[in-house]
Amino acid sequence: MGSCSAARSSQELRKQTGRRPGQGDVPFPGAFERVSHPWDWGGRLEESAGTAFCNICWWCGGAFGGFQHSESAVCPDCGSIARDRFLFFCFVGRRARSCYRVLETSPRLGTEYREAMKHWFDYRASDFDQRAHQADIELDLQDIHLDSGSVDVLLTPHVLEHVPDTERALDEIYRVLAPGGAMYLQVPVLQGATARPKVPEFHEDDTPVEWRFGPDLSARLRGRGFETRILCTEEVYRFARAGDRSWPRPIAKQFDVPSILEALSHQALVPIADLETSMRLGFEPGYMFLTWECLKAESPG
Ligand SMILES: [Zn+2]
Repeated sequence: MGSCSAARSSQELRKQTGRRPGQGDVPFPGAFERVSHPWDWGGRLEESAGTAFCNICWWCGGAFGGFQHSESAVCPDCGSIARDRFLFFCFVGRRARSCYRVLETSPRLGTEYREAMKHWFDYRASDFDQRAHQADIELDLQDIHLDSGSVDVLLTPHVLEHVPDTERALDEIYRVLAPGGAMYLQVPVLQGATARPKVPEFHEDDTPVEWRFGPDLSARLRGRGFETRILCTEEVYRFARAGDRSWPRPIAKQFDVPSILEALSHQALVPIADLETSMRLGFEPGYMFLTWECLKAESPG
């Protein structure tokens, strides 16, 4: 598990934020009431063996709603889809509890989730223009109006592909992260190599897609100073390690899985969800679940 350099005492946290971890000053929201703290989910997972399990709100039951897809497998209680749960799984699984100042760009989940996050962390949700997502602050990743070193963890799901100048955004993110801080970056990975869309492409909220990223995004992240690896399911790791490009089951439209597998070097991958966990949390099919862990060194060189 990683750590943040700015491991602060409860007293310091109280001074900075007016509250302590786990003692938010907002009413505790319904669907998340059963969650004592995001890091304590393992016991609940064990107790509910054999069920589908939401690692965000700790719901367990027969099956998620919808179908097996990163954009589906809906939690009936909190509304998370599979990629929401994978991002949260990456964050909680890889960071220490002391990572407290959390910024999330355009979270898909609404008020209850954000209130829960504010209960557990010094949490802010941002959006570019608040057109499609309500947020605490408006924020352009290419020109972030936040102090340098002011964020321990940045969660950024499906936003970077909409930003025209990737390098400028990565420089800004690097600047606002605290030494030892981390970004958990999700973008749709539909092909092996990064390119502009061949025809104009828009996501559901009508935001234009500027880039279709491939696993080669890692090199650009390293070029901006990040230490980075791709967090994945054990299923994908096994394929990458074996050099196997032939996915054994039907592949979802839009995903060029052979080219994605071709571009994934197993040395750059970190498997974080074994087969049982992936099945219970809904991380299926495995090739849809890739998250870049991007670390800023404790003492940037
Ligand atoms: Zn849930």
